[in-house]
Amino acid sequence: MRQNTRNAPAGFATRAIHLGYEPASEHGALTPPIFMTSTYAFESAEAGAELFRGERAGYIYGRNRNPTQALLEERIASLEGGEAALAVASGMGAIASLLWTLLSAGDEVVIDHTIYGSSFALLTKGLTRFGIAVHPVDMTRLETLEAALTPKTKLVFFETPANPNLRVIDIAAVAERAHAAGALAVVDSTFCSPAIQRPLQFGADLVVHSATKYLGGHGDLLGGLVVGPAETIKQIRTVGLRWLTGATLSPINAFLILRGLKTLELRMERHCASASALAELLASHPAVARVSYPGLASFPQYALAKRQMSLPGGLIAFELEGGVAAGTALMNRLELITRAVSLGDAETLIQHPASMTHSTYSAEERQKHGISDGLVRLSVGLETLDDLVNDLAQALDSLRA
Ligand SMILES: *Cc1c(COP(=O)(O)O)cnc(C)c1O
Repeated sequence: MRQNTRNAPAGFATRAIHLGYEPASEHGALTPPIFMTSTYAFESAEAGAELFRGERAGYIYGRNRNPTQALLEERIASLEGGEAALAVASGMGAIASLLWTLLSAGDEVVIDHTIYGSSFALLTKGLTRFGIAVHPVDMTRLETLEAALTPKTKLVFFETPANPNLRVIDIAAVAERAHAAGALAVVDSTFCSPAIQRPLQFGADLVVHSATKYLGGHGDLLGGLVVGPAETIKQIRTVGLRWLTGATLSPINAFLILRGLKTLELRMERHCASASALAELLASHPAVARVSYPGLASFPQYALAKRQMSLPGGLIAFELEGGVAAGTALMNRLELITRAVSLGDAETLIQHPASMTHSTYSAEERQKHGISDGLVRLSVGLETLDDLVNDLAQALDSLRA
């Protein structure tokens, strides 16, 4: 990337667009090429052996690394403020590659009790089959975290804001407790993207993302990322990705995520502005019982959210006076807002966590873990705000008729 004239560090959007790529190195092509190759030719037999011994820099095989993926990793590491990054095939691929690399039988993990349904299943139903103990706690209450930490705790894992109810966890406070116990603090920051929250700044050790969501941003791919210290990332690449999961990101998807990054900051501003307006609409509507949105002054952790996030995000969770039946009716009456799981797309999406993304939790677990059956989750997209307001208002009004 060309230096700017005053040699000042480049801003977020500039790095998201330019970092790590020089058009002159690729025939002047403005856009970085996609390296569609599964393997790489060695200059000589000796050179190949040196690459395998780690004595020579270069590419060996597409499961480990690819130049398109490497550019994405360099940009994400910079945007999150980390030393290095690893790009993988999905958010679950990122979480699984990380956990399987850093944990062994006999280790313990403490998790916040409200996390993405498949992450919850991977931890509580998957890892526990291999001799790893997993303790879900409410990390908004630090004393419950402290009580669960033992000398065997290797990792503390949480999301903030949490999927699906948007509880916000104090990253600095949790990281401090984890470190005091000799454990790593790992944050799934998918709901924010580095445009609005950078957990490493608050003391987290590793950040994971589902790049399927805001980073890709267009609902056309799956991808995942891990960001953290270079040594740990190298270990997750060589052990977790190469041997344990093989969850390699395709070069085309790496290219599409790079394209998404160019507009990330701009898109997040619009997602957040529209979500703030829709949260106000929901909060003032008589059919709505409760709204959870970090940008509302009524949000229980408003001050903490403001400290950790530069904008309140594009997701809203709410409950209707009529509970599950009203939620189902509302979803069916929407005409523009689309019934679908996932989030962070240009399209506004609505889903019912208890029967969809969080159906991996049992009914008791949902109740215990703060995922009420009436909760509806809205991912606010990039459509014209008036059209979203009109659609949501007509569906809400129809509930009272
Ligand atoms: C979607 C999601 C994941 C899983 O990511 P995939 O790309 O679907 O594998 C993990 N964490 C959170 C918070 C998510 O929203």
